[in-house]
Amino acid sequence: MLNRQPLRCWAEISRRQIGENFDAVRRLVAPAVELAPVVKADACGHGAVEVSRILCERGARWLAVASTGEGVRLREAGVGVRILVMADFLQVEPSALIGYGLTPVVHSLPDILAWDKLNRQHGVSRPYHLKVDTGLCRLGTRATAPEIAEAVRGCSAAQIEGLMTHFASAADYTGAQTTEQITSFLQLAAALRQCGIAIRYLHLSGTVPIAYGRREAWQQMVRPGHAIYGYVAPASGDAAPPSMLHVRPALTWKASILAIKDVPLGAGIGYRATYRAPAPMRLAILAAGYADGIPHQLANTGQVIAGGKLAPIVGAVGMDLTSIDITSSPHLQPGDAVTLLGSEGGISIDAQQLGQMAGTSSYSILCGIAARVKRVWV
Ligand SMILES: *Cc1c(COP(=O)(O)O)cnc(C)c1O
Repeated sequence: MLNRQPLRCWAEISRRQIGENFDAVRRLVAPAVELAPVVKADACGHGAVEVSRILCERGARWLAVASTGEGVRLREAGVGVRILVMADFLQVEPSALIGYGLTPVVHSLPDILAWDKLNRQHGVSRPYHLKVDTGLCRLGTRATAPEIAEAVRGCSAAQIEGLMTHFASAADYTGAQTTEQITSFLQLAAALRQCGIAIRYLHLSGTVPIAYGRREAWQQMVRPGHAIYGYVAPASGDAAPPSMLHVRPALTWKASILAIKDVPLGAGIGYRATYRAPAPMRLAILAAGYADGIPHQLANTGQVIAGGKLAPIVGAVGMDLTSIDITSSPHLQPGDAVTLLGSEGGISIDAQQLGQMAGTSSYSILCGIAARVKRVWV
């Protein structure tokens, strides 16, 4: 039986912690503000279907994904709540949006009219959310309120339900970009109201503006992603308030020791011998590498927790194997597990810290945990 054999590399994910993190966000913003937890990118590597089920059991009425395909996958798994598709072409799989009852975010005025036409062709009258670009210069229309109003009024079937934007520098309290984005968004929404366009949900915020309490950016809906997985990115600047959100990582990432090896002083360790043993050393060879999601940038700089102590990564990170120095934990044996993310013996490493060691973010660490890493729900 495969499930009785030791795993090479796996992630343990806590259902309870996912639920508690959702509740923490809800407690902070409820009852006035609707939540659309973001489960894109397979719930940031946690498993979108399972995470969505947990959130729906806890009362989530909306979910947000990046692509139509991600939304279809949730529908096929039986997820029945509203699903917002935030970043796809309307032209790709448009009838799947209708057929699976997904709500698109449209990014341009022609897309509003295209969505209307599609609705008429199918004989339905479905809502859409419009994204406006208030400064990120990525997706979203830069049209004026009268231009938007004209496109919205030009629809006979499609219904505008939401107006949204996305921040460029939400965690940066040294500059004014976020405030400027909020101001221009709220001005646009007010101008649309004056044009007679009523919109049920204005939404701007992911985790960071929720956690640091930018209430003017909460409006009627928020889109927490990272918070659901237990993370809030640190804010920068003296004006940064403390986070109001108390969430904890739901995912623990482990790897097995495949072999133990003693090497002499001066041994060149790993590809290209980028590390020379400064003394006789004991190594553990882990059954995990960059193909599992350990960033190759952790070569000679990263650490894992082995035997309840920090153990440095020595030499290059290979595709399938990584070596660590366990000279100070000589009792470790092949088959023992080490912790890549999580707590052990009072020490912990989270994705924020691992990301810092690798010169990247907690987001990319979590999304980088590869599909071949088995997810174990606990
Ligand atoms: C990913 C995403 C979010 C969620 O952001 P977090 O920082 O993970 O909470 C919110 N809104 C949009 C448009 C996104 O793409």
